[in-house]
Amino acid sequence: MDMSVGVVGLGLMGMPMARNLLQAGFQLTVWNRTRTKAEALTKQGATQAGSPKELAAKCDVVITMVSDPPALEEVLWGTRGVLEGLKKNAILVDSSTVSPALARKVAAACAERSADFLDAPVTGGTWGAEKGELVFMVGGRKDVLERVQPVLGAMGKKIFHLGGHGAGQTIKLAMNMILALQVDALAEALALVQGAGLEGQKLIEVLQSSMARAAVLDVKAPMILEGKYAPSFPLRLMHKDLGLALELANQLGVSLPATAAAREIYNAVKGATREDVDYAAVAKFWQKS
Ligand code: NAP
Repeated sequence: MDMSVGVVGLGLMGMPMARNLLQAGFQLTVWNRTRTKAEALTKQGATQAGSPKELAAKCDVVITMVSDPPALEEVLWGTRGVLEGLKKNAILVDSSTVSPALARKVAAACAERSADFLDAPVTGGTWGAEKGELVFMVGGRKDVLERVQPVLGAMGKKIFHLGGHGAGQTIKLAMNMILALQVDALAEALALVQGAGLEGQKLIEVLQSSMARAAVLDVKAPMILEGKYAPSFPLRLMHKDLGLALELANQLGVSLPATAAAREIYNAVKGATREDVDYAAVAKFWQKS
């Protein structure tokens, strides 16, 4: 592949995404705030840039995959940030989950530099990132998406074009609201069943044969029943996404009462937990030890 691609952010998601780009044959440059995390990739053929600016100056396509809006602002507008180095006609793809408003601000900054932008948050988790089976939710121009399609195709199995800048982030936030509420509802239902002295597993068996069946049960119910919460999608990030959804709803004048209540529960668990746990740990709200 003659397109040069850069990945900024080698966390739980960015690392396997970058690895899949390397395996697909792209010339890959990476940058991560904690530099040591890039070592495994440089051994496999990636180049490590000294700054996001240096990375952007080398790449036709720059992908950002960082935790939250402040992290994205830092890597784009911070000292020696991506925007200082972004080439004319380059494409910046942000796959982090941030606000639609920030996506539109980044799009405007790219346009000022004669570069293009897509918001392209993902779903599929670390499992999907490792397998190259992510689902991309894209906002921006369709012709720009067509140009970058081979790059996204190396990391994902489905790409939805959803509208203009910010549309990808809006759909992503709405989707994560549902996942957060599903796991919160599951944890509440388990608390009721276990409070009545019944085994939680009995509830799961019945749910799996009912209209309440959901893929999220397969992954999160065992974690809750075992009380083991190694992070796949960290609770701190789900908490962030609920905050972003409520912020958007506030701007739009849309009421999200169930999401507001769930966010308080995620907030309580986040405040009471020192380790980096998966969002299934919302169940700790009802657990006695
Ligand atoms: P993560 O493991 O916490 O990694 C976060 C990355 O952001 C790391 O590379 C981190 O660098 C970097 N970062 C954080 N603050 C920074 C700053 N101020 N300046 C520069 N870099 C900074 O998160 P993740 O799970 O990969 O998630 C990344 C994004 O994808 C998030 O927006 C998340 O909501 C979204 N997402 C995650 C999943 C999932 O299952 N995990 C699924 C879909 C979408 P260091 O290594 O130096 O800390």
